[in-house]
Amino acid sequence: MLSTTPSNQGELLIQQGELAGRRYPYEAIVCQNPTCRCEHVTLKCFLETPEARPPAPVSVCLEMDLERREISNIEELKANPTARALAQAVAAESGQEQWDQLRRIYWELKQYWTEHSDLEQVEVSFPPDVLAGAMVGYYGVFPFARRLEFTHEQESWVLDD
Ligand SMILES: [Zn+2]
Repeated sequence: MLSTTPSNQGELLIQQGELAGRRYPYEAIVCQNPTCRCEHVTLKCFLETPEARPPAPVSVCLEMDLERREISNIEELKANPTARALAQAVAAESGQEQWDQLRRIYWELKQYWTEHSDLEQVEVSFPPDVLAGAMVGYYGVFPFARRLEFTHEQESWVLDD
């Protein structure tokens, strides 16, 4: 049931403004902590023109905050004209559909890291009553774990570990 590496690569196509029609390949990166719910995806965007004048960075990292639906490092990116133009275009063109898609990528990657981390080594903070002997659901500790579902006599069942 282990997932293979989910696709973390795609392409941004800017549709409006001075960058209209430009495509930026990107790589999506999330933190690898299976218990962390930071709702954060880094989009590492590769630029087409490394020899640009004035000099442009080869890649620009957009820190996408899924909860606030904003680019959290947009102020830092404003220091470079190329980074600023890309960040502003992405901010302007990211609507419901784009944020939903980013959230799917986030879940897939977090699920991947949940299945590929050494869970014995993960720092977990349990609710206090667990230490007194109460049980806690697996999904309460590892929220991105794959859902265990099966069908029995035409009924759908979901397991909680
Ligand atoms: Zn995190």
